[in-house]
Amino acid sequence: MKLSLVVPCFNEQDNVQPFYEAVEGAFRGVIRDYEIVFVNDGSVDKTAENLKVLFNYHPDRVQVLSFSRNFGKEAAIYAGLSHAKGDLVCIIDADLQQRPEVVIEMLQVMAEDDAVDCVAAYQANRRESKALSTLKSAFYKVINKIAEVDFVNGASDFRLMKRPMVDAIISLSERQRFSKGIFSWVGFNTRYIPYDVAERQSGETKWSVYKLFKYAFDGIVSFSTFPLKIATGVGLLTSALSVLYLFIVIIQKLAFGIDVPGYATIVVLVLFLGGMQLFCLGILGEYISKIFIQSKNRPIYILKEHLSKDEREA
Ligand code: UDP
Ligand code: MG
Repeated sequence: MKLSLVVPCFNEQDNVQPFYEAVEGAFRGVIRDYEIVFVNDGSVDKTAENLKVLFNYHPDRVQVLSFSRNFGKEAAIYAGLSHAKGDLVCIIDADLQQRPEVVIEMLQVMAEDDAVDCVAAYQANRRESKALSTLKSAFYKVINKIAEVDFVNGASDFRLMKRPMVDAIISLSERQRFSKGIFSWVGFNTRYIPYDVAERQSGETKWSVYKLFKYAFDGIVSFSTFPLKIATGVGLLTSALSVLYLFIVIIQKLAFGIDVPGYATIVVLVLFLGGMQLFCLGILGEYISKIFIQSKNRPIYILKEHLSKDEREA
């Protein structure tokens, strides 16, 4: 059975060669039939050159897909999966935080139980601040409550999949891809194993706090319609409360003849309701923007170059 490694790379010039060597070292004598599909996601450093060198040395092992610009890791994964030829496909980062030895473990888990379609690795140790991991846990709690699929805390894109699952993922051609949700949405029998995250080999992470928030928000909007219902809930509640308040005011006026001074109440209510309305409009806007992007039907990525043995021969 052929194994394909799908490796998204964005500015990983100093990692691609060590990555290749690490894979070769780990797989020697264990896995023979494998290919590595590097996806150069619009890197602005020497990643493209270094990948070309790798391809020229190992045309039987290596495919290189180069994007015309940075389309994001999700697009890179999609491109890699679409071009992988293996019966088994594993997504793995280029920075050696995910050791190739774990791939062998994944293969063993799969070999032991035929019913397993996917082996996903989750981080046993978190290399990040306490605040960030608390925030991440909170995100998983929220999204699992409101989304239609399950999200596993700590599970990354690092996973080995059988061909039917890969084909299922490729068949979801949505533009705004949120892999964590897509993996879970397509179903299949997934086993989770822990792995130790290593230090980044070289370079730095592409995640900023802002990017993480945006990613979390996109995940919720992509896999849940719950935020749309907030407007309905808040609207119903405020309507009910205002009717109640109307009765109180009428009784105060008629029964006790109290003048109802209302300046503060009015200001607070106007501001509150105005704020709520804008908030709900904003949520609507998020969904509409997703519809807008999807309806333009642009491709998920644009290839500038594809280096592979087949292409070369053709
Ligand atoms: N990556 C990518 N496109 C991007 C950002 C990241 O292909 O726009 C790749 C990156 O080269 C790496 C993997 O995705 O191989 C994971 O990125 P990173 O190491 O920055 O994330 P972290 O490990 O910190 O979660
Ligand atoms: Mg990393």
